[in-house]
Amino acid sequence: MAQKNEKTGGVVIAADLLKTYVASVFRAAGSESAEADIVADHLVEANLAGHDSHGVMRVYKYIDWVKAGQVVPNRHVTVVTDSGALVLVDGNFGYGQVIGREAMAITADRAMAHGFAAMSIRNAGHLGRIGAWAEQLAASGLASFHFVNTSGFGILVAPHGGSDRRLSANPLAAGIPVSGGRPLILDIATSVVAEGKIQVLRNKGEKLAPGLVLDGAGNPTIEPSAFYADPPGAIFPFGGHKGSGLSFFCEVLAGSLSGGFASNPGSPSAGRLVNNMLTVAFDPAAFGGAEFFSADVHRLIDWTKASPPIEPRGAVLLPGELEDQVRSERSRSGIPIDAETFHRIVMAGESVGVSAPR
Ligand code: NAD
Repeated sequence: MAQKNEKTGGVVIAADLLKTYVASVFRAAGSESAEADIVADHLVEANLAGHDSHGVMRVYKYIDWVKAGQVVPNRHVTVVTDSGALVLVDGNFGYGQVIGREAMAITADRAMAHGFAAMSIRNAGHLGRIGAWAEQLAASGLASFHFVNTSGFGILVAPHGGSDRRLSANPLAAGIPVSGGRPLILDIATSVVAEGKIQVLRNKGEKLAPGLVLDGAGNPTIEPSAFYADPPGAIFPFGGHKGSGLSFFCEVLAGSLSGGFASNPGSPSAGRLVNNMLTVAFDPAAFGGAEFFSADVHRLIDWTKASPPIEPRGAVLLPGELEDQVRSERSRSGIPIDAETFHRIVMAGESVGVSAPR
């Protein structure tokens, strides 16, 4: 199912149809079939979760990067260091969706063998929605946390007290399995807004909320285009000095520790979007026991959600619950894509010989 809104030019498209179309674009751009499906699946799953900034909107950038040789199709992880519970892999500038998935499969094996595992990834292409990696581990019964940085191209965020771009959006994620239910997944950028969300507003012709972005002269702005001007603007970290401090440690734990570089316009990978990630995964059975973990998590969920809502029709949501709600709604009614974003995706597809879905 695909429907066009004649007034806005936007479309609403069923997840399966969108996956098939996007996979065909990546195949035409040089990916083997399995890789094209993995990348398409990850992007459409991000749309289903409501994170349009990390969904199919990325298709046109990824295709540009492939054409420029900045992302290399059909690359896989290379193990650099392996001491059992500690593994360092190089992503060889392959699609982050493939590199992340392969690295998380290694992490799950090691965490189950040793009770915990630390995985350091360097030189991956864009790792997309980081919550996906916590979900992959939770599906194996593992708790995990993840720190991510961008070593060169993705420098976007002003440090607390500063007025220009020095740090990356540096997301972090954490996830736990929940017996009998969906995993709980915290998945946040340390910038006050993810850069992709500024792109979404620019594509829709809408303004930013105040207090998110500085223009190239270091003045607050609500114009998405001011962020992309020359000189470019900067995004604030969330929570002032707290988000800024967390972001700094994402740089260190993901970038400096892996050998993939902290935010650095002079790094060898500057000019291409490179994600590095530190993942630490735990098997609850190896710590306080699987049964205790499960019961205590359920108790905590009930206790937390029982807080009386501050808004008359409000509710306490746990990490990942909003995404679950949007996922079930969009699985039923389709994924909305604004006209400008859809146009750019179609142009990217046509540039590699793939026509838009009818
Ligand atoms: P966000 O601000 O939408 O926050 C999402 C998190 O907050 C989720 O865990 C969600 O369940 C929780 N949440 C949302 N509303 C809630 C509520 N009312 N109550 C309780 N919890 C709530 O996310 P973001 O910071 O804009 O990040 C968006 C996406 O961008 C993420 O998937 C992130 O991984 C991705 N990202 C990736 C990169 C990269 O380099 N690969 C960089 C930046 C961001």
